[in-house]
Amino acid sequence: MSIESVAIIGLGLLGGSIGLAVREHCPSIATTGYDRDPDVRRRARELELVQTVCDTPGEAVKGADLVILCVPVGAMAEAAGDIAGSLAAHAIVSDVGSSKQSVTTALARALPNATIIPAHPVAGTEQSGPEAGFAALFANRWCILTPPEDADRQAVAALAEFWTALGARTQVMDAAHHDLVLAVTSHIPHLIAYTIVGTASDLEDVTRSEVIKYSAGGFRDFTRIAASDPVMWRDVFLSNRDAVLEVLGRFTEDLTALQRAIRSGDGDTLHDLFARTRAIRREVIEEGQDDRRPDFGRGDHVKS
Ligand code: NAP
Repeated sequence: MSIESVAIIGLGLLGGSIGLAVREHCPSIATTGYDRDPDVRRRARELELVQTVCDTPGEAVKGADLVILCVPVGAMAEAAGDIAGSLAAHAIVSDVGSSKQSVTTALARALPNATIIPAHPVAGTEQSGPEAGFAALFANRWCILTPPEDADRQAVAALAEFWTALGARTQVMDAAHHDLVLAVTSHIPHLIAYTIVGTASDLEDVTRSEVIKYSAGGFRDFTRIAASDPVMWRDVFLSNRDAVLEVLGRFTEDLTALQRAIRSGDGDTLHDLFARTRAIRREVIEEGQDDRRPDFGRGDHVKS
């Protein structure tokens, strides 16, 4: 099964980046796209995110070998419903949603006869919209495929080959396990960043201007994550509720243990933890998932 045409529904950061990456790495694949926002469609045409920007979802997916839904998780059911009557019989339907169990259920309900292979490229930025897309977004990043147990193996292989061609590394995983892993590596870190930035802006004894002025002490790095798209992240927490609550319970216990160590002057506990976490940072860099340079390679700042 070879993919010769791709339709992208939702032309924001992820959809735009897929379009640009296809143009760079697989120029022989034809690309069509649709977004429900007419301004996004206009910008997508100007930026040439895909070869043809269509004015209806049905037009965009007509005849496409692969359809990728790149809309917020909470909009997946609607986006799938919109293309239900227009899909080619052989089409593979996939998505890029950040949580997988709820999206898999929504897609199966909306498209009972389609070949559905959900996926999640673990690649992104805090930016959103059509301007935010770039072709290198997926380079050396993992794309996790979560096919249902009875999925067509050729379709899974074709989708994995597609993502590999865009520069990603692929891994097949069970959807429930994906949701737990991503709760740890992505969803809880975002929740913590949203909390820290929210709490800092609510403090009464430290002014908001002081928080911003002295942000290079660590706060600034949380503000990057906490600037992520509110709609996308609202949907992630609502759709991956069980895994997020499970990991959050564990995190709260660990935080309480640290609180106790600080209160009782238990420096060994603090030091042991910080030594372990420093080693994890080294492993992330060795795996090629971040920049080795100090301060994430910003370079022009002095870190305090
Ligand atoms: P984005 O930049 O906001 O783009 C999403 C686009 O989809 C918006 O233009 C939105 O229009 C449009 N849309 C919403 N509902 C639609 C519908 N029913 N039909 C057609 N278009 C629709 O979002 P993104 O960052 O690309 O995220 C898209 C998906 O990728 C999400 O499921 C997210 O979980 C996943 N993801 C994101 C990241 C990341 O770091 N951002 C990383 C990996 C995966 P409106 O603005 O009018 O709603």
